[in-house]
Amino acid sequence: MPAETLPGPVGVVSAPWRLPGFHWHVYRRDAVGPAWPTPEERAARLATMPDKPRATPHQVAGWLAYGAAGHGGRAYVWVPEYRTWRCLGDLDSEFNRVLVELMLQAAHGDSVYVVACSWLGRADFFAEAVTAVECAAHGHASPDVVAHARRRS
Ligand SMILES: [Zn+2]
Repeated sequence: MPAETLPGPVGVVSAPWRLPGFHWHVYRRDAVGPAWPTPEERAARLATMPDKPRATPHQVAGWLAYGAAGHGGRAYVWVPEYRTWRCLGDLDSEFNRVLVELMLQAAHGDSVYVVACSWLGRADFFAEAVTAVECAAHGHASPDVVAHARRRS
């Protein structure tokens, strides 16, 4: 196909991946998150009611980035390899870069933690990666949080 007949930019090109049973439980909290995430804190979070589950890295990144942008300020992501928070940028002027960075983080198939800091204070966003073992009844992420919670019990 000649280059001049190819369509223009379409945004995200690669198709989102899914793994059977693998999904993320997402939580938002205002200014109560830990300075340093711990396994105990993750376990406590997973025992609470999540927002509706997310099944792909694209969904996770979108939830994190738009949630953080709603709070405003600068976005920081938890980098577990270095046990530290790294600044991703300003949520107004660098939103697209923040979104792409979060998508890359989520594409690892791990949990992704984001903090938004502005003059309003701090808001914490947690996307906890869970397997079919941790959430066995929930292999096909329901968009309905009530149905999701019922299946877990
Ligand atoms: Zn689940």
